[in-house]
Amino acid sequence: MQPLATTSEPVGTDALIIGAGPAGLFQAFELGLQGIRAHVVDALPHAGGQCIELYPDKPIYDIPALPVCTGRELVARLLQQISPFDPTFHLAQEVCEVARQADGRFAVETSTKQRFLAKTLFVAAGVGAFQARELKVDGLAAHKGSQLFYRLPSDTTFLSNQAVVIVGGGDAALECAIHLCKLESTARPKRVTLMHRRDAFQASPDQVDAFQNLRAEGRLEFVAAQATGIDERPDGQLRALRTVDADGLPRDLPLDTLLVFLGLSPKLGPIAQWGLDLDHRQVLVDTEKFETSSPGIFAVGDINTYPGKKKLILSGFHEATLAAFAAAAIIHPDQAAPLQYTTTSSKLHQRLGVTGRAA
Ligand code: FAD
Repeated sequence: MQPLATTSEPVGTDALIIGAGPAGLFQAFELGLQGIRAHVVDALPHAGGQCIELYPDKPIYDIPALPVCTGRELVARLLQQISPFDPTFHLAQEVCEVARQADGRFAVETSTKQRFLAKTLFVAAGVGAFQARELKVDGLAAHKGSQLFYRLPSDTTFLSNQAVVIVGGGDAALECAIHLCKLESTARPKRVTLMHRRDAFQASPDQVDAFQNLRAEGRLEFVAAQATGIDERPDGQLRALRTVDADGLPRDLPLDTLLVFLGLSPKLGPIAQWGLDLDHRQVLVDTEKFETSSPGIFAVGDINTYPGKKKLILSGFHEATLAAFAAAAIIHPDQAAPLQYTTTSSKLHQRLGVTGRAA
């Protein structure tokens, strides 16, 4: 994966894939076989879509020739498979704007102001961009990015010696609490408090055991309550989270940093504004090319719909294959794109970087 710094100049590309779930990743592979290098954008900070976000450790049994693999293993294998084609990933940014230019290319802009000029677009956006469910408390949103986070920041050194309150009762919340308590003493917060509406957790048994052990050892505190408001210092800094327990007793939880893990919800978001024909919030495509109502824009995977559509990973793989052939005809109109086998085609071997290997 090649992260790319945000630039003021748009990045010109033959193909831009929106979504790095299994369909988007396999799209990069099929485009690679056609000799087309792709850029891939995802709202999440990692590739894998639902497989990583919703069921990383659960087994999948219906990937052809892979009798069983977890969501995480499938994504690792897909990333390995597309590595010869070296797609450039732009993660943690949502594609917001798509507009066709006079020259037929698509001007695309993301939430981090990264811009692209793409000859073809592949909407592989699944059920939409995953966004953190927000804690709805008056005045809290203003602290986002300074004292309020919906993901554990990659650099947590600033949390050293802080009072940290974590909100949530699922795997992500417990994992974060456990992680912070186990940091080296110099990097560890001075106090970790986990608040959830009740003393029961929707997390894996291993996480719950580890959490309860730390709690029993007094290394973190648990509070069963719900947030009702915030307390701010005169300088506007967040001082405490106001809460109330099941008996209606109020309590302020003093904090320097608030970490909220209330799960993720997918949002179709801006895709609905791109002028594509939709049916029940799914993008309508044909079944020859998986092209949308806008020529040059394809839609593959869970985001699309057509008669008989089944939302399976396998379906996305098939759709991506036919969309790549159709895109090749747009990007290289003067070159025929005959069907070639990866087993026997020296051209595909060259593209895959396997020239010289025993066939
Ligand atoms: P997704 O995996 O949803 O990925 C889409 C990506 O696009 C996301 O990462 C999202 O952040 C990104 N995105 C969306 N909008 C934007 C935007 N505007 N800008 C940037 N990024 C954006 N299928 C099977 O075949 N077999 C199974 O056994 C199976 N088990 C499942 C178990 C569970 C619990 C669930 C929930 C699903 C399961 N599925 C299974 C379904 C399978 O996960 C989906 O069919 C598959 O993930 C669809 O892949 P996708 O790439 O189309 O979309």
